[in-house]
Amino acid sequence: MASRVAARKLFVTTALPYANGPFHIGHIMEYIQADIWVRFQRMQGHEVHFVGADDAHGAPIMLAAEKAGKTPEAFVEEISRGRKQYLDGFHISFDNWHSTHSPENVELSHDIYFKLKRAGLIYTKPVEQFFDPVKGMFLADRYIKGECPNCGAKDQYGDACENCSTVYAATELKNPYSVLSGAKPVLKSSEHFFFKLSAPECVRFLRDWTQDGKLQPQVANKAKEWLEGDAGLSDWDISRDPPYFGIPIPDAPGKYFYVWLDAPIGYLASFKNYCARKGIDFHAFLKNPQTEQIHFIGKDIEYFHVLFWPAMLRYSDYKIPTNVYSHGHLTVMGEKMSKSRGTGIDPLRYLSVGMNPEWLRYYLAAKLNANVEDIDFNPEDFIARVNSDLVGKYVNIASRCAVFINRKFGGTLGDSAGGLPGEFQGRAGEIAALYEQREFGKALREVMRLADVANQYVDEKKPWELSKQAGAEAELRQVCSTALNLFRLLTIYLKPVLPQVAAQAERFLNVAALRWSDARELLPAAHRINEYRHLLGRVEQKQLAQLFDIASAPLPAAKEHAVNDAISIDDFNKLDLRVARIARAERVDGADKLLKLTLELGGATRTVFAGIKSAYAPEKLEGRLTVVVANLQPRTMKFGVSEGMVLAASGEGPGIFLVSPDAGAEPGMRVK
Ligand SMILES: [Zn+2]
Repeated sequence: MASRVAARKLFVTTALPYANGPFHIGHIMEYIQADIWVRFQRMQGHEVHFVGADDAHGAPIMLAAEKAGKTPEAFVEEISRGRKQYLDGFHISFDNWHSTHSPENVELSHDIYFKLKRAGLIYTKPVEQFFDPVKGMFLADRYIKGECPNCGAKDQYGDACENCSTVYAATELKNPYSVLSGAKPVLKSSEHFFFKLSAPECVRFLRDWTQDGKLQPQVANKAKEWLEGDAGLSDWDISRDPPYFGIPIPDAPGKYFYVWLDAPIGYLASFKNYCARKGIDFHAFLKNPQTEQIHFIGKDIEYFHVLFWPAMLRYSDYKIPTNVYSHGHLTVMGEKMSKSRGTGIDPLRYLSVGMNPEWLRYYLAAKLNANVEDIDFNPEDFIARVNSDLVGKYVNIASRCAVFINRKFGGTLGDSAGGLPGEFQGRAGEIAALYEQREFGKALREVMRLADVANQYVDEKKPWELSKQAGAEAELRQVCSTALNLFRLLTIYLKPVLPQVAAQAERFLNVAALRWSDARELLPAAHRINEYRHLLGRVEQKQLAQLFDIASAPLPAAKEHAVNDAISIDDFNKLDLRVARIARAERVDGADKLLKLTLELGGATRTVFAGIKSAYAPEKLEGRLTVVVANLQPRTMKFGVSEGMVLAASGEGPGIFLVSPDAGAEPGMRVK
């Protein structure tokens, strides 16, 4: 390698999570992806500032707070306090976590707005919109329902019909009603503020910015469609009327910025807050042409990040993003995650059942690439990869060789053999390039290939046999020293993904925090290592069963009291509820909470797994009648396919209570 590359200056963000609920596994996946990239950059010696924040504004938060009987400020504050356990739990190394409901964000939003206005890109015009006269507020499309103007289907949202897929304006719905109050909305006009995205200079700028080759091809192509579609770019409505939880527009009393205007500005607000604490000159850092501004986002918010955001920054004289890295969704066993179907992975549950966060980091990294692709969490694959790669290949090298160095040579290494260490060192550049390109899956495949090579070396040299042979001490020491050097190089290459394991390995190897450039050297003869301590355990089947055993997971207490939003009789009639006789009830091997029920529904037989083991001895259930949701999509669980769901009551306290029909009901009868 030639001369050292100058240190880069990086400002890196992840998409701001909406502060109306706790993190789900999709957030954690994005944070892990960005965190691996950031840790890799730090290992290169670059200056990296990695920040996040809560997206705290907008009508959904205002309404959620109202429902919870809290002020929006208190509501988002509480959500924000819950973030740390997730971020620490999965080793996400943000330098700062902030909120869009902050003085920095108000100041920056005002500044950007005034600059856009001076650039002639802000104008106002009246907009006619549905207004809920009971609630006293304008209604976004998702708060209006009515009959589809095309097919007449009832209870369709204000933007598109779920029955015939027609897209329409809310004002076209027949018999519209407010989801919030049930009232018939009235049309009302109000002055709105617009950002003139259709201005020729704006369109030209965005065409250049999105098509110069830096964006992922899928993202660039989408941007091209948006830019060159028949309608062209629409101007962007950036204001909302009260009641609204947001930032007041400074020169327009009674108007607020739409949440999507101030949300991305929250990236800058969090960074500014961090700079003030760290004594960094915020404006100077961003003005520096060397500074790279990188946003990691999910594919569903590309529009905001490759059109609105760069245009806002360009015409308010802020740094324009260097790049936007978009990723796909995380599916679980091939399905879009859904808590109600029991396929969701709750990140805190993952941690609370004792699963190691670095298993997930490794598993996701092994599947991630630079494309905008969905990736799938598959429990069997998860177990196989973690146990065979991390434990069986990587950790195994150290655990097999350390003992001889410690017992026979006072913990000091000898000379390493030539050949393999040099070969491993020679891969540093290529693996680094893969990390840089976010091709984590490819990087890890190469690292695991090297781990195989290292294990083959140990298998061939058989230190456990050398240790019993007279006169083989020198060879034993060389073999183990070589293998530990290979292990150290693999640790460097895995460190962005496995920060905790790497820290333990550094203690064991008795070395300072490893950086990428440390791959140039080997541990010399006479280097003293410490006692080997177990680095990483294996995943057990039982843990995955616990992770997915959602049926018996305690529900968040707050949800229990409030009755859910009203549904129509049509919604209710979609449920096919049947009386069922429990013909057999069996315990399931390896499942702590499930019983396997064989149900008779008047002729037909079903297998259903139910999370009621804590409340019922199986033999007591046999012969009993209960009620089953008969048209629930069959769900593949770890233990088999569940073809329905039995109804049971539960509250905040302990206990699960199976629902039974009154005497006289027969299996197969419909419950209405
Ligand atoms: Zn329709």
